[in-house]
Amino acid sequence: MKIIVLPGDGIGAEITGATVGVLEAASSCYGLDLQLEREAAGHESLRLHGATVTDALLDKVKAADGLVLGPMATYDFKDESKGEINPSKFFRKELDLYANIRPARTYKGMPARLGEFDLVVVRENTEGFYADRNIESGSSEMLITPDVAISLRRITRQCCERIARSAFELAMMRKRHVTIVHKANVLKIADGMFIDICHEVGKEFPEVSIDEIIVDAMMAHVVRAPQRFDVIVTTNMFGDILSDLTAELSGSLGLGGSLNAGSRYAMAQAAHGSAPDIAGQDIANPFSLVLSAAMLLGWHGQRVGDSRFLEAGKAISEGVAQAIEAGEATRDVCGRLGTRA
Ligand code: ATP
Ligand code: MG
Repeated sequence: MKIIVLPGDGIGAEITGATVGVLEAASSCYGLDLQLEREAAGHESLRLHGATVTDALLDKVKAADGLVLGPMATYDFKDESKGEINPSKFFRKELDLYANIRPARTYKGMPARLGEFDLVVVRENTEGFYADRNIESGSSEMLITPDVAISLRRITRQCCERIARSAFELAMMRKRHVTIVHKANVLKIADGMFIDICHEVGKEFPEVSIDEIIVDAMMAHVVRAPQRFDVIVTTNMFGDILSDLTAELSGSLGLGGSLNAGSRYAMAQAAHGSAPDIAGQDIANPFSLVLSAAMLLGWHGQRVGDSRFLEAGKAISEGVAQAIEAGEATRDVCGRLGTRA
């Protein structure tokens, strides 16, 4: 399996360094023959090649089996015509990584304020309320007068179907429950369609029970009793917001693993950002990216039908749990070690 590694900004170099170490160890323990190739993206690529991502990089990524993307500081990327493209958005779109899988669970050895839980947010990643993902070119946000701005949100049958299928397939491997999160009480047409399609797809999975919760009420339910949830399926922006909440409820944003998966490619990416406030101090928690990389191995194992990758992915997640329980983790999760250790 060939994996392209793009370190990113802020704590990116530290947490991708740690993740590469874990992947190399897994490769030798499980005979995976991983080839890890470091390339530049984001600010590093802008300095070297005049653009945050290049066609040559996209070709390399397309020839590989997966991608580990470190966090990118994107606030100063303003003009795409000057090569300032958000790499995360770029790969999600170019590789059609439609399913953003964001697990959140509690761990032994850490205070679980809300009791133990183990859930996964399955977020649609390619359309919805994001200005860059709605239409083929240009933006779906517009200033129609100096005082009036409009943002459009596109929802399609095809994208609803494929994200619903991802959620139900995942539920079959877990506790067989799917919660549809929506705002169909006000977004009657688009979210109404989303719900209807989720139920249609759900008919193919009769063992999976389904419920529906309106997104605002969901915020209360997930804080009140996160243990009632198994797989949560939702549209792009709701999933973006909800998954930050669930990662933090699990103990730390630094535990938020995230896989962006399509039918041919997948990209491991921490749920958090570049955390410039703690960069270069060897205190960042590498587990969000380590757990994301473990999911990438599992995804690949499933795709090519090779159980060694599935076992390696499970062993890494289990290793993270054991390290947290033993206090062999960073201080944000009550540990005493630095990133490298
Ligand atoms: P960006 O603009 O790249 O998103 P940010 O300043 O918003 O950067 P985040 O990375 O989103 O920062 O982090 C938000 C908070 O969570 C920060 O205080 C940061 O230190 C903390 N944090 C984020 N990731 C980690 C991590 N891996 N380990 C420990 N703390 C983290
Ligand atoms: Mg941030």
